[in-house]
Amino acid sequence: MKAISVLGSTGSIGTQTLEIVEEFPQQFRVVGLTASRNLTLLVNQIQKHCPEAVALADEDLLPDLKLRLDTLSNERNLKKYPELFGGAEGLNHVASLDHADLVVTGIVGCAGLLPALAAIRAGKDLALANKETLIAAAPVFLPELKRSGSRLLPADSEHSAIFQCLQGTPWAENARLSTGIPTPGLRRIQLTASGGAFRDWSIKDLERATVSDATSHPNWSMGKKITVDSATLMNKGLEVIEAHYLFGLDYNQIEIIIHPQSIIHSMIELADSSVLAQLGWPDMKLPILYCMSWPSRFETPWRRLDLTEVGKLTFLSPDNQKYPCMELAYAAGKVGGTMPAVLNAANEEAVAQFLNEKIHFLDIPKVIEESCEKHKNDFQDNPTLEEVLSVDAWSRKFVKEIVSKGTSLLKG
Ligand code: NAD
Ligand code: MG
Repeated sequence: MKAISVLGSTGSIGTQTLEIVEEFPQQFRVVGLTASRNLTLLVNQIQKHCPEAVALADEDLLPDLKLRLDTLSNERNLKKYPELFGGAEGLNHVASLDHADLVVTGIVGCAGLLPALAAIRAGKDLALANKETLIAAAPVFLPELKRSGSRLLPADSEHSAIFQCLQGTPWAENARLSTGIPTPGLRRIQLTASGGAFRDWSIKDLERATVSDATSHPNWSMGKKITVDSATLMNKGLEVIEAHYLFGLDYNQIEIIIHPQSIIHSMIELADSSVLAQLGWPDMKLPILYCMSWPSRFETPWRRLDLTEVGKLTFLSPDNQKYPCMELAYAAGKVGGTMPAVLNAANEEAVAQFLNEKIHFLDIPKVIEESCEKHKNDFQDNPTLEEVLSVDAWSRKFVKEIVSKGTSLLKG
């Protein structure tokens, strides 16, 4: 039985991971959970999964959590009282529990970086959903992975598709370690993108895009931040950088292709021009399960793919003018070093400002570009963890300043 810790257990990735554990009680058990603020759901998860340890990012809520668990315990509605932790130290502790075999990283944003590093340093295998962590800190993250021998299993559906396709090649061993070493014989990666909420909108129509428009995804049900990232296509840009670091390909070997049905989850082209793809309904449970069951495959009762029901699979080139975030991500990825951390942090802050209705949807790429441009003066090629954290903080602050000043940038 595999022991799992779930970071960000109350989110979209976290809850789906726990659903898988419930479906396979003989294979998996939960030892650790972390969450930010949703105590009602967290308490429910603690009752169901009886973890050893639980951490709350927001330390101030610990007394409330304890009170709720005490009440349940007195009513004999709690089978096991977990050890409780709070704050950054607490998250790191739960990410590195002795008994855990695999840590699923479902925290959103760069907030997941330190717990993910703690898990690696403790030698845990990682099911990586939290792509922002790798994108911001690959120069720190990848050498740590190598040192610890932890395995990085991609939970992002596109990277899982690539990973799954690579299992059938002679380089599976190399690819599975995912430490940015070039995979020989892998000539090209094609990342598929649904096109997000505004796929069928014209550029002109984007001027009237609202928060509610941007947070309705046509194919996937996900957290708010990644749903907005899908609408700007920054999510795909971030995934290009993620693919670069995971599979070691140059940026000119990684392409984005719009595939509105989200049935093909990505493709690889091999040296002999053969193209391999992985297909399935758009459902994150499959890539998450594969991280958990790898290298095995479990029998599931899940809805089986019927291509006659889908009817047709279509493909389009993405429109760079409509989705400027893609090019910003390629550019930051090519620069490398601290630039992806700045891009990522600027994007996180810009999306937060957009969700709070402080900036318009079309301002998101503008503030990110400004932040990356400004960072060129302080760029570092091979940063330490402290330097990554410092540029991350700088970039968020810089975006906040642009927004609070309401500069001409946001009016043009
Ligand atoms: P979500 O918003 O639904 O959940 C985020 C989780 O992180 C919650 O449990 C929340 O409590 C926790 N959290 C939030 N802020 C935190 C903080 N500062 N410190 C500690 N914990 C915090 O997000 P999601 O959609 O589940 O996405 C999680 C990650 O997985 C993201 O990096 C996203 O890019 C990636 N991902 C998600 C999907 C998906 O289908 N949802 C698909 C691919 C990749
Ligand atoms: Mg994805």
